[in-house]
Amino acid sequence: MSKKIAVLAGDGIGPEIVAAAVKLLEHLRQEEGLSLELESALVGGCAYDEYGSPLPQATLDIAKQADAVLLGAVGGPKWESLDIADRPEKGLLGLRSNLGLFANLRPAILYPQLAEASSLKPEVVSGLDIMIVRELTGGIYFGEPRGIRTRKDGLREGFNTLIYNEAEIERIGRVAYDIALKRGKRVCSVDKANVLECTELWRSVMQTIGNQFPEIELSHMYVDNAAMQLVKEPTQFDVMVTTNMFGDILSDAAAMLTGSIGMLPSASLDADGKGMYEPIHGSAPDIVGSNTANPLATILSVAMMMRYSLDLPEIADRIEKAVSDVLDLGLRTPDIMSAGCTAVTTQAMADAVIKQLAL
Ligand code: NAD
Repeated sequence: MSKKIAVLAGDGIGPEIVAAAVKLLEHLRQEEGLSLELESALVGGCAYDEYGSPLPQATLDIAKQADAVLLGAVGGPKWESLDIADRPEKGLLGLRSNLGLFANLRPAILYPQLAEASSLKPEVVSGLDIMIVRELTGGIYFGEPRGIRTRKDGLREGFNTLIYNEAEIERIGRVAYDIALKRGKRVCSVDKANVLECTELWRSVMQTIGNQFPEIELSHMYVDNAAMQLVKEPTQFDVMVTTNMFGDILSDAAAMLTGSIGMLPSASLDADGKGMYEPIHGSAPDIVGSNTANPLATILSVAMMMRYSLDLPEIADRIEKAVSDVLDLGLRTPDIMSAGCTAVTTQAMADAVIKQLAL
């Protein structure tokens, strides 16, 4: 049966990098007989311009009916003065909540060919391959009550609620353990159980579920230590699982260890394995239209889609190998350029990946 992919290019460099990834998908469809149906729709600022909403109902319907969503990026200076409800980012948040995407997977892999791009010494990051599993739809970003209120003495105070129930912790824990089974079989659960009762429960549920996965080596770490360890000895980690806010911060720190924002994909999954796949970077307004955007994060997002939503792990492996091969050939977009390498455009990079895939 044919698999439906919703293609939401978004704003800025979104259409450029998504066009590159679509070329790869078309190659897989036409040359390798993969049964894929692609349907495009607007999201973000471009959707607001056209329909007055960053997430039009028609786009949401297409995303809901699809087996997977490929997203470019949203946002840009043009829309920054809009009301918060109309901003492009609302399109993204709306997709996450409406599709029930509770598990965010953020790999941080250092390609040996790009070791010099890391802000850390090559010997510290060499071999880095971490998967951060972040809870995406709960925790302090969504907890109620929340707000800013004025106390009786006239002083204003801001407040938010950190809340997780057992079921929410268990389902993200299971995602992390399942992924670890296919990798290095180690899970580090990150919390602040020494201070926050909510994460005391987090730790206890992670431990209980962990007992059902005897093959997995489970460890627990306080978030402050995890931040320190990420820059001290990042290669000690295999899979890290954590709350929405801790994951937000730690995954960005881990991304920077690889030194190249244009190389990092992500996946956000629902309970049935349907997912939204997107590069971690934004719409890069500073390089729009220059044909220099690095398409590899988006192409690697397609690889994640093959692995996690379309049950085609061998295609995922081949795409990832093709990306590594083009780096071996010395092809670089400007963001990852180094001495002795060859500068290529967005399109040329995509063509090179497709060529390697076809070999
Ligand atoms: P950004 O990620 O767009 O850009 C940061 C820097 O990285 C820029 O110098 C940019 O040129 C570079 N860069 C990013 N992606 C690149 C790529 N593929 N190839 C080469 N260089 C790349 O972050 P920003 O500048 O803070 O934000 C720009 C806009 O993107 C804002 O409107 C922001 O809200 C939005 N944004 C969207 C998302 C998303 O859609 N998921 C994420 C982050 C930011």
